[in-house]
Amino acid sequence: MQVTIDKFSGFCWGVVRTVQIAEQALLTKEKVYVLGNIIHNPKEIERLENQGLTTITVDDFESIAKESKELNIVPKILIRAHGEPPETYKKAWLLGLEIIDATCPVVTKLQERVRKFYDQGYQVVIFGKKDHAEVLGVRGVCNDQCKVVISVEQALNEVDLDQKTVFFSQTTMDRPTFLLIKDALQVKIKDLVIDTMENIATEFHAKDTICGQVSGREFLLKQFAEQNDCIVFVAGKASSNGKVLYDVCKEVNINTFFVEDISEIDINWFIGKNSVGITGATSTPQWYMNHVKEFLYSL
Ligand code: SF4
Repeated sequence: MQVTIDKFSGFCWGVVRTVQIAEQALLTKEKVYVLGNIIHNPKEIERLENQGLTTITVDDFESIAKESKELNIVPKILIRAHGEPPETYKKAWLLGLEIIDATCPVVTKLQERVRKFYDQGYQVVIFGKKDHAEVLGVRGVCNDQCKVVISVEQALNEVDLDQKTVFFSQTTMDRPTFLLIKDALQVKIKDLVIDTMENIATEFHAKDTICGQVSGREFLLKQFAEQNDCIVFVAGKASSNGKVLYDVCKEVNINTFFVEDISEIDINWFIGKNSVGITGATSTPQWYMNHVKEFLYSL
């Protein structure tokens, strides 16, 4: 049985950057905290926690500030690639906590664009998951005055078509659904042009803010999935792009299996198969895929 790791898999540059910033901060031997899981991959979280990284929430700020004052140290709070709402920075600043901002520049750009349109009075619509960390940050920059939608049906029900509107996407969503929602909103707004003839009511902008690191991989991933008899897709269960990319593989290769941990691998998947491909999300570490490969050879 031949086992191959997808050469285009592994961390995206945004995650590489975040992990490097974390590792550099940990080298100082000072206390480093990260707000929420640094990435959606339990293996990488464990590796960094073993180096001293501590995962916290905003609710821990006050106790960290108090403890640090007693010890006379300035704790460092790392903001992960998903970004944070402005309120988090304000709270940290008020409590004297030092922020290390590792927000992915692609997410920062999305936040800036949303803020710009919001300040100009647009209704902001986001294609994404309401409680995903990145979306929480985006909601924060427009004072939570936006509509977060996940489907065409929800968009048509909840978006106010009488307002000038801008439509964005969470960076890790799938493009086909983004385009379906965009088209559905556009058609409705076209109806309004005929009905109302009021330009202000009909202004609609769609901004495709899906990250190229996710969408650009789809074509290559399909090829990889087609070239192998069976695919082991390795990712954290909480990874948003993991779900999107897993679906891409499954669509072209029915023998695609999602695993977070080696213990979930079932030897029966490989009966009668000559080739197995290993791939993963943009948050799946290369070292863990190597580990899966060694494990498959041991089988
Ligand atoms: S997937 Fe894109 S937006 Fe998300 S961390 Fe990676 S580079 Fe940044």
